[in-house]
Amino acid sequence: MTSLQQKIDQTVAVLQQAVSEFSPVTFANSLGAEDMVLTDLIAKLPHPNPLPPAGRAERGGQSRANESLRESNTIAMFSLDTGRLPQETYDLMQKVRERYRVPLHVYFPSNALVEDFVAKHGVNGFYDSVENRKACCHVRKVEPLQRALAGKKAWITGMRREQAVTRGSLEVSSFDADHGLQKFNPLLDWSNAEIWEYINANDVPYNALHDQFYPSIGCAPCTRAITPGEDIRAGRWWWEDPQNKECGLHVGKIMPLKRV
Ligand code: SF4
Repeated sequence: MTSLQQKIDQTVAVLQQAVSEFSPVTFANSLGAEDMVLTDLIAKLPHPNPLPPAGRAERGGQSRANESLRESNTIAMFSLDTGRLPQETYDLMQKVRERYRVPLHVYFPSNALVEDFVAKHGVNGFYDSVENRKACCHVRKVEPLQRALAGKKAWITGMRREQAVTRGSLEVSSFDADHGLQKFNPLLDWSNAEIWEYINANDVPYNALHDQFYPSIGCAPCTRAITPGEDIRAGRWWWEDPQNKECGLHVGKIMPLKRV
């Protein structure tokens, strides 16, 4: 068995554990290369409790009950549209909708909070200080994330240990005390080369910016291309110290429970 196949098997086992022990579970799909691998793997998961297909036989309350049961036995998927994403990310979002059977629920920021931030700091006020940048990320990412996670028992991310100095101590499965639910990072020990080997072997769609030296993609004004030899997160908030380079989605006290 290849090392990539072993990683795939381990990842599928983590996803199945999440479903069997922590439903309802949801996948935070940032549409980055790692998350496209997870999208593909989740879409291919065998359904743990097959139900009759939705159709004419399922009517009214029965249809809604079956839909709810489907969601509770599978992994839901969502993305955060900050309102400042690159066009290439929107193009990929559309491709995901067309190719995969798992619906992608898109969450938007609160218009009142965005208006308040822009009134106080200006539309590009996030460049002025780390504090402003984190405030913008809070309005456009963290608050919508809290809505996306409400009522869930676990969430899944595509974070990898080697992506950033801030991610070295992560666990595959741990309790996320900040959000009050279990958090799974099934790709934690995948290498960048393994991510791309999987994408190429399975013809997985990916963000066109990856072919233009953007290994890590966030909002358009806060992401730039890198040069060969630079750290893969060097293009994110490039004007800040590396220790600050998280957006508030993945912070807090991590309490390891178990590793699959
Ligand atoms: Fe705002 Fe930039 Fe954070 Fe996007 S990445 S939410 S534009 S500060």
